[in-house]
Amino acid sequence: METLQTSIEYLKGVGPNRAQLLREELGLRTFQDLLHFFPNRYIDRSQFYTIASLPKATAEVQIKGQILSLKMVPQKRGKRLVAIFSDGQSTMEMVWFRGHKWIQNQLKTNHPYIAFGRLSWYGQKPSIAHPELTPENEAENQHIQGLHPVYPSTEKLVNKGVGQRIMKQTVAQLLQLTRTHFTETLSEGLIQKLQLMPRSEALHQVHFPSNTHQLANAQRRLKFEELFYIQLQLIQKNRLQKQKIKGYPFESVGPLFHDYYTNFLPFQLTGAQQRVVKEIRNDLGSGRQMNRLLQGDVGAGKTMVGLLSMLIAIDNHYQACMMAPTEILAQQHYQSLKEALNNMPLSVALLTGSVKGKERTAILEGLQNGEVHILIGTHALIEDKVQFKNLGLAIIDEQHRFGVAQRAKLWQKNTLPPHVLVMTATPIPRTLAMSVYGDLDISIIDELPPGRKPIKTVVRSDAQRLQVFKFIKDQIGLGRQIYVVYPLIQESEKMDYKDLMDGHESMARYFPLPNYQISIVHGQMKPADKAYEMERFVQGKTHIMVATTVIEVGVNVPNASVMVIESAERFGLSQLHQLRGRVGRGADQSFCILMRGNKSSEDSRTRLNTMARTNDGFEIAEVDLKMRGPGDLMGTQQSGVLQLKIADVMKDQEILKTARHLARTLLEEDPQLQKPEHRTIRQTYAKITTHKNIWNYIS
Ligand code: ADP
Ligand code: MG
Repeated sequence: METLQTSIEYLKGVGPNRAQLLREELGLRTFQDLLHFFPNRYIDRSQFYTIASLPKATAEVQIKGQILSLKMVPQKRGKRLVAIFSDGQSTMEMVWFRGHKWIQNQLKTNHPYIAFGRLSWYGQKPSIAHPELTPENEAENQHIQGLHPVYPSTEKLVNKGVGQRIMKQTVAQLLQLTRTHFTETLSEGLIQKLQLMPRSEALHQVHFPSNTHQLANAQRRLKFEELFYIQLQLIQKNRLQKQKIKGYPFESVGPLFHDYYTNFLPFQLTGAQQRVVKEIRNDLGSGRQMNRLLQGDVGAGKTMVGLLSMLIAIDNHYQACMMAPTEILAQQHYQSLKEALNNMPLSVALLTGSVKGKERTAILEGLQNGEVHILIGTHALIEDKVQFKNLGLAIIDEQHRFGVAQRAKLWQKNTLPPHVLVMTATPIPRTLAMSVYGDLDISIIDELPPGRKPIKTVVRSDAQRLQVFKFIKDQIGLGRQIYVVYPLIQESEKMDYKDLMDGHESMARYFPLPNYQISIVHGQMKPADKAYEMERFVQGKTHIMVATTVIEVGVNVPNASVMVIESAERFGLSQLHQLRGRVGRGADQSFCILMRGNKSSEDSRTRLNTMARTNDGFEIAEVDLKMRGPGDLMGTQQSGVLQLKIADVMKDQEILKTARHLARTLLEEDPQLQKPEHRTIRQTYAKITTHKNIWNYIS
């Protein structure tokens, strides 16, 4: 008999090949995985628009009406088929770029249809390309009315024929098959109190909603459940930690720290940096393990705080490590730390995936016998082979790329867990951060180093490109360096790559050798080549750095004063802010030029204007929060802060608060969850903590 752990291979229409594809592309293995694979949006075919009332945005819309005429219109390449569609009051165009013959044979003029598709606006004229047209009298049989799930997908799945239709059929079949297996996971008390939908109903409704109201209820129930169990875990962990987790007491702030602080500090610390260093010193001396989140806008000077903390660890005869999300960033930290600590009796090593052979062996040995004091690296640091003699402090830079699980992995490397400092430029309101991280204390650097001039940001169109180039030339003439960044979105890697190469070519034409040197860095290069190109730019040997977003995080070249972002409309706000943060790091006036493509939506205009208006990371985060749709690639879900399936810690703050409050009350009242009325919760909680994944608990 099938259980929720049965492989999806056994579903009708799936089979071994598709099962493998679904596993590789979406990580779906079992019935359970698929049940909890939630739609990231819904197509609303419950309402009809008239042409006059169409929303002034790109949206999916449904209209009743008739085709008045069909005609072929020649265009640059080939032809397009254009239908004039009337709802009885007004008319609009519907367009096809392929499949003309078939469509012409299928469609009848002056016959009632329901048209559905994605609306575009050309000035004041609405149009739908490749609409779905269903004869009105067949609409009922085809079940087109209502809300339709849209599941996350990939290009590969679509190419291999596993589109939305197959996904829908498969999930429907699965729900039918497993309907008796769903058990309730929340207590009767909670369900009553919050008027939550029963679990089995919620699972049905979230995939196939009867209406928007039911959908909202189903989502609320599942979001609550997800957040509630995360909060239970966090609060429980925090309680245990407060009671038990001892840390190495770093009692003294010793000679290394003092020597560096008095003799080598390259600048005076800002008030905020001083305050945070003090907070960290207190933690480190307390005898309890430090778990601190250090937030500070890009350029706030987090690295120096990290460096000083590491010196305290070494003063107390422990090792320290710093983990960065990318190889480039690790390289750069390594270089700048080595330079900073040049005059001190310290050994700093770099460990990344591309450090191999003898070099690697030597580093691993040095770590074990304590010769290496500071290790900088990427994910390579958390491999099992990396063993420290006595790791006392682990710093994780730009944490939003690291998952909680990876953080935990560091802790298992010693008898006592090392102190942990997580540094991030992702601005999260304090209250929210508390409930997301739960177990972390928080420090904030809310002050930029003095003398920084606010970055001037402008939006420019392609037509203004020559002026932009001229401006860049002037800046280079003043001795400055320039970044030019291209988008890199996984789904269309090839296209992005082409854009990047074309861009590089045209830059090279306008900025020819030998007067101008250009570096190029992108994700398809070997790490060593990337590092080489980056290094040339850092050392000022090249004037222009043409790159994809690999340079997004942390790269520090104070002499760079212009950030040009190509196709800026394709970036999310937080990413734009991160990118802009690469300039404005020196004393010179810096500029950010957002190159806007021709296709810009209302949303992208808001984003670009926000960037032009403010430099404040928190303000930008707030706008971002207001605008962001679910399923946005830059959403918190994908950021690795928490792997959430349905809730969004930014958008569902109300539910999060309730969940946190109720979880806390529950644990205060019944810490072991022993009361009979908490049996369901106890059992579910036990399953989660053994299975790790919040959603892997029902079997
Ligand atoms: P982030 O917080 O984004 O990691 P960094 O640590 O890279 O920022 O610092 C950005 C730049 O500011 C670096 O060039 C750094 O040397 C410089 N900096 C940091 N703190 C100060 C300070 N107190 N005074 C002057 N410059 C500083
Ligand atoms: Mg940094």
